[in-house]
Amino acid sequence: NVPEISVQNCDVLVIGGGPAGSTAAALLARKGHKVVLLEKDEHPRFHIGESLLPCNLPLLEDLGVLEQVKAMGVHKPGAEFVVETGEGRQAFPFRHAIGARHGHAYQVLRADFDELLFRNAAKKGATTFENTKVTQVEFKGNAPTLVTAQDKDGKEHRFSARFILDASGRDGFLAARKHRRNADKNNSTAAIFGHFRNVPRRDAGMEGYISIHLVQEGWFWMIPLPDGLMSVGFVGDKSAYRQHKGPVADLFWKKVKESPCVAERMANAELLSPLSTTGNYSYRADKAWGDGYYMIGDAYAFLDPVFSSGVLLAMKSAYRGAEVAEAWLRSPQAGREAAQKAEAQTCKEMKRISWLIYRINNPILRKLFMRPRNILRMRDAIISLLAGDFEAGWKVGFPVAAFKAVFGISLLKR
Ligand code: FAD
Repeated sequence: NVPEISVQNCDVLVIGGGPAGSTAAALLARKGHKVVLLEKDEHPRFHIGESLLPCNLPLLEDLGVLEQVKAMGVHKPGAEFVVETGEGRQAFPFRHAIGARHGHAYQVLRADFDELLFRNAAKKGATTFENTKVTQVEFKGNAPTLVTAQDKDGKEHRFSARFILDASGRDGFLAARKHRRNADKNNSTAAIFGHFRNVPRRDAGMEGYISIHLVQEGWFWMIPLPDGLMSVGFVGDKSAYRQHKGPVADLFWKKVKESPCVAERMANAELLSPLSTTGNYSYRADKAWGDGYYMIGDAYAFLDPVFSSGVLLAMKSAYRGAEVAEAWLRSPQAGREAAQKAEAQTCKEMKRISWLIYRINNPILRKLFMRPRNILRMRDAIISLLAGDFEAGWKVGFPVAAFKAVFGISLLKR
C-alpha cells in the first residue's frame, strides 16, 4: 500500500529562499496571505554577492531587519574603482543629497544575510521549508494546480497554489521549463572567487570601501567582510579563459600577479577554502511571467555584478512580484496587467544599469567615467546609479544623452 501524500493548500508558493524569495514571502505573509516558501538548501548556506547598495536600506527597514543587517555587516561608505592600466583610481563616496536616502550601505556574509531574510519571512507568517527542492509544477488552464517538492530524505511534498513566484536564482526553474533564456553575448564572463584572511583593507577613512580593480581581460572585486575577512573575486571575459590552460585557480593567481595594486594587497593572502567559480554572463528570460506565475530576482535576469546591483534588483523585483501575486489573487486579468507593468519596470532598471556597465567595461568610455571632475554631471549620475537610485541617476545623466544627440557619438550608444 502506497501511503497517500497529503496536499497543502496556499495562496502563493515561492520557489527559492534567497533575497528575492524571502522578501516576497515576507511581504505577502504580512498582508495575511497564505504563503509557502521552499528552499532546496539549508540556511545558513554560502552565497556570493556580499556588497549591498544604499537603496537596499529602505527595503530592509521596511522588512524590519535593518538593525540586524547593521549589526552583522561592514559599513560601506562608497566604492573605489582602480584602473590598472595607468588611468589611476577614483573613489565614489555615497552622498545623501544625490541618490539614496541613506548615504552608505553594508557588506555582509550572505550566509547570515540570507538566513536573516528567510527567518524573517517565517516570522511574518510564511510557512517555510528548507532542504526541500521543487521538482515539478503542473499547470492546468491559467493557474498552477500542483507543485511537487522533494526533501533531503527523498520524501515528496505536494502543494496546491493559486499563484507561483519563481525566485530560484540562477537555476531559473520556470525559465528553463517555459521560456528561453537569452544570454548577453557582449558580456560573456565568468568569475573565480573566495574568502581570504590577511588582505589589508584600504587606508584610514576608506576601510569599508569596496574596491573594483579594472585589469586586463576583466576586473577584480575586493569586499571587506566581518571578522577581518576579504571577499576577492576575478571576473574574466571570454579571452581570459580561452587563452588559459590548466586549473582555473591558476588563472586567478596569474591575474593577481599581473595586477600590481591587487598583488600588493594579496601579498600575504590566506585562502580559507578552495576557490569557487561561476559563469556569470548576463541573461534575461524572454518574458518574466505567464498565467499563474511571475519570476523575480536572478530567476528572471542577471547583470554583470560590477556595480553590486544584484541583491537590490532581486529585492525590488520581489516587491513588484508580491504586487503581481496579490493582483492575480484578485483576478487573473488584474494579475496580467500588474505583471506587464512590473516586467516593464524591471527591464527599465536593468537597461539603466547596463548603460553604465557598458561604459565602464569599455576602455575608451571609462576614461570619461574615471574623470575626477563633474563633467556633464557624469560624476553625480554615477554616484546615484552606484547607490542603486536608477531613477535619479538616469535623470542626472541626461546631459550625457544630450551630448550624444548633439555630437552623434555612436560610442555612447547601447
Ligand atoms: P539567489 O540568491 O541565488 O537565491 C535563489 C535560491 O533559490 C537559492 O537559495 C537556491 O538554493 C534556491 N533554489 C534554486 N532552485 C530551487 C528549487 N528548485 N527549489 C527550491 N529552492 C531552489 N549582488 C550584489 O548585490 N552585490 C554583489 O557584490 C554581488 N556580487 C556578485 C558576484 C558574482 C560572481 C555573482 C555571480 C553575483 C553577484 N551578485 C552580487 C548578484 C547576487 O548574488 C544575486 O543577484 C542575488 O543573490 C539574487 O538573489 P535571488 O534571491 O534572486 O537568487
